[in-house]
Amino acid sequence: QDIILEVRNLKKYFRVGRTGVLKAVDNVSFFIRRGETLGLVGESGCGKSTTGRTIIRLYDATDGEVLFKGKNVHKLKGAELKRFRREMQMIFQDPYASLNPRMTVADIIAEGLDIHGLASGKERMERVYELLETVGLNKEHASRFPHEFSGGQRQRIGIARALAVEPDFIIADEPISALDVSIQAQVVNLMKRLQREKGLTYLFIAHDLAMVKYISDRVGVMYLGTLVELTESERLYENPLHPYTEALLSAIPIPDPRVERTRERIILQGDVPSPINPPSGCRFRTRCPKAKPICAELEPVWKEVEPGHWVACHLYN
Ligand code: SF4
Ligand code: MG
Repeated sequence: QDIILEVRNLKKYFRVGRTGVLKAVDNVSFFIRRGETLGLVGESGCGKSTTGRTIIRLYDATDGEVLFKGKNVHKLKGAELKRFRREMQMIFQDPYASLNPRMTVADIIAEGLDIHGLASGKERMERVYELLETVGLNKEHASRFPHEFSGGQRQRIGIARALAVEPDFIIADEPISALDVSIQAQVVNLMKRLQREKGLTYLFIAHDLAMVKYISDRVGVMYLGTLVELTESERLYENPLHPYTEALLSAIPIPDPRVERTRERIILQGDVPSPINPPSGCRFRTRCPKAKPICAELEPVWKEVEPGHWVACHLYN
């Protein structure tokens, strides 16, 4: 299967105050195959949204490369940049904030068509109706305004807007976090159906591990600006190697109370340290139950410890 996106040693730093540097994303590397869903999980502030925003060029990269279909997205210009702006789309966390309240649903959905000059007049409206149908809404919704819709419906509108320009890659940044639990599965199932029908590739950013497992082929775990583990979902959930992944997974409630919990709950000590002044060596060491002296001295290397399973931890070096 071919690789549609490759992220190589990506760094995104922000200046804070006069002398501080926030290392939001620090040396992150991974790839995504065409047609797959890669989940990216971690606590808030771990850098997963910043990673997504740097990939889609909402941010410049401080260092490293993002290759989309083999081309460095941060170097694209002119017609190639314009094409990239269509091919990669984003769905945002907050369907309340990401839709312009003064625009009709039709104008919101058609925004990309207008910007890229893809359709006008009757053809444009036909396209809007078609997109509404695709996401489970209908024609009558076209002339309404965002505030007339529920959260789940608004996220459907956001999805229709992203689909309008026929992208092949979608970054979904916590697309269901703001929705009621009863609505979350509906939106995820819609995304799964659209992926099958349109051959979409997803980068799915979330902190709900159960939902991420359900939608993702592979999952990467981030902590304090770095990737700590990445592998196939099944393998990650059955056999996590990194102590942080173990702790995260041990906190997932087991849905069926008759099933005995096989994994002991690991309670992490302390808070996530500041990314402005992260711990030396392994960034997880201040909370890691398995830390050893070397963890304070050396940053663990991002390494493929078995085929298709990457980990950054001294236990596996
Ligand atoms: Fe824990 Fe050390 Fe592994 Fe970091 S490198 S996760 S501190 S054992
Ligand atoms: Mg975020």
